[in-house]
Amino acid sequence: MGTKLPVAIVTGASRGIGNAIARSLAEQGYSLGLLARSEADLQAASLEIQRAHPEISVRARACDLASEAETIGAVEDLTGHLGPVSVLVNNAGEYVLGTSGMDSEQLRRLLEVNFVAACRLTQLVLPQMKSRENGYIINIASICGVEAYPDVGGYCASKFALVGYSDALDQELARYGIKVTAICPGWVATRMSNRSPVPSELRIQPEDIANTVRYLLSLSKGARIRQVVVHC
Ligand code: NAP
Repeated sequence: MGTKLPVAIVTGASRGIGNAIARSLAEQGYSLGLLARSEADLQAASLEIQRAHPEISVRARACDLASEAETIGAVEDLTGHLGPVSVLVNNAGEYVLGTSGMDSEQLRRLLEVNFVAACRLTQLVLPQMKSRENGYIINIASICGVEAYPDVGGYCASKFALVGYSDALDQELARYGIKVTAICPGWVATRMSNRSPVPSELRIQPEDIANTVRYLLSLSKGARIRQVVVHC
């Protein structure tokens, strides 16, 4: 029997930033638990990573992170097959335009997917991380979590919430040897930034965010970075 590999869960791993992070974690020797809604896209992404890295285990579970029941089922399945989680990357998110024009249902959905889902996943993996006194939770927030913009008030609110929660969480969990970082990028060249005014060649590349994650994971136990802002 070989040595058991560390396990990372990445949400929104079927494309964009989450997919780049998952591929990079596979290169670094993590077994992967992957989540997103579209079963077909997730299986395709999972197969591609598994083909490139037969040495790791890859397990994919389609679920809508807005659903508490689906999320609990998915995490139980992933940890049941892969083992305890060392790294959780809360990356999945939705981008919706609107500020005063957003109704409460739209706001609730945005907060549920971009903020509450990350808190829920954190709570699900925390007992294992605490008992092993080891873990890293990386939350992909946004520049919209540190600066407000007029046309995306609801999205900003969800990302400001995530950044504030991350900061508090890192302080709370330091004594358990668990680190938490919020990464706050400007426009990243993915499907989400299709309507960006910044030309795609001047946007941040998904691999830049994956490299930021790689850098954070390389730091020694005592070095804690609560927030990384990446401008474009
Ligand atoms: P993307 O290309 O649209 O990918 C989003 C990923 O999240 C997909 O895998 C998607 O798969 C999944 N997802 C979306 N809603 C979900 C849900 N309710 N439940 C489960 N999975 C869900 O977006 P991206 O640009 O890579 O963005 C990733 C993260 O970075 C987001 O949190 C976003 O807010 C943040 N961000 C993006 C930018 C940017 O300019 N692109 C800038 C700053 C921050 P399914 O659709 O199949 O569910």
